[in-house]
Amino acid sequence: MLLEIEDITVAYAATPAVGGVSFRLDEGHIGCLLGPSGCGKTTVLRAVAGFEPLKAGRIALGGHEVSTPGRCLPPERRGVGMVFQDFALFSHLTVSGNVAFGLRAWSATERRARVAELLTLVGLPSRADAYPHELSGGEAQRVALARALAPRPRLLLLDEPFSSLDATLRTDIARDVRNILHSAGITALLVTHDQSEAFALAEEIGVMAAGRLRQWACAYDIYHRPADRFVARFVGQGSLLAGTASGPASVSTALGTLTSRTPLNCAPGAQVEVLMRPDDLECVDPGSATLTGTVEAQEFLGAEYLYRIRLASGEHVLSLARSHVSHQVGTRVGLRLDAQHVIVFPLEGV
Ligand code: ADP
Repeated sequence: MLLEIEDITVAYAATPAVGGVSFRLDEGHIGCLLGPSGCGKTTVLRAVAGFEPLKAGRIALGGHEVSTPGRCLPPERRGVGMVFQDFALFSHLTVSGNVAFGLRAWSATERRARVAELLTLVGLPSRADAYPHELSGGEAQRVALARALAPRPRLLLLDEPFSSLDATLRTDIARDVRNILHSAGITALLVTHDQSEAFALAEEIGVMAAGRLRQWACAYDIYHRPADRFVARFVGQGSLLAGTASGPASVSTALGTLTSRTPLNCAPGAQVEVLMRPDDLECVDPGSATLTGTVEAQEFLGAEYLYRIRLASGEHVLSLARSHVSHQVGTRVGLRLDAQHVIVFPLEGV
């Protein structure tokens, strides 16, 4: 286990910004803290880096305690690299100079070799003598990554690293960064409010809200098995349908009785909400389906259409369908359920 965060509380003055946060990151894995602005993601990252002391809990890196309420190992002694939002490249230094910045204690020969190795890793060997103003956003991002990785940190921290890049490039660049980190076996923790970045980069995602970690799980589970309504709503699209538990693993809804492979943990008769993702429902010919609905809206996404469909119950569901068949607004469509999991939330405490 490379990074262990156990039940940490971090406060600014007397006000806790983060409380009771626990998660672990294995060597070579990429984790991400995802959540709306102000939920405490950067605070956790800063505590891991050693910039914020703990009020409670502990942080260990590579099996060594680095933060406890009484002790905070300084950032420069943690072996942690950081990439910031604006990349913060030194404008008066070339690409090589930037990458070599953290290697001042190394011999000139070792430094040259390491810089060359890093520029190859990030695919920029031909840009060694360029200055930051001559780089594209994506290149600057890779130089910042190379600079942070140069001193061989045990853990790389990335704070909203793609937010200053053009939106159309972000997911591509996030995928490039993921490949670079994986090929070098780097363990990294990323902070973002953008779920497409989280999915493009990380295999483990923690969703935060109001200073709390609501769920820490693999990307698939965060989307398909969200721990609570907040996670369900914050990540991906979907709708919540009213349901009544009709057995230990079944729930009746406007879409019929849905049966889960695993027990639903709610008493028969309990009122629940059932999460329906757009990819759980397929639009089919109404003549061939027992379930039907009326198309209320159609959004063209390129390869797919996203439909908003009104059911006879008055409730709405979303459905994704390939874009070569178009169901017009106002028409009736058949619905075929293709859900792998049944996710229910008890109604109390909505
Ligand atoms: P995020 O990264 O999710 O946007 P932050 O960790 O930056 O959230 O902030 C969490 C909370 O802590 C917010 O309410 C924010 O206003 C507060 N906060 C962050 N930094 C400071 C600070 N230096 N002093 C006081 N409050 C802060």
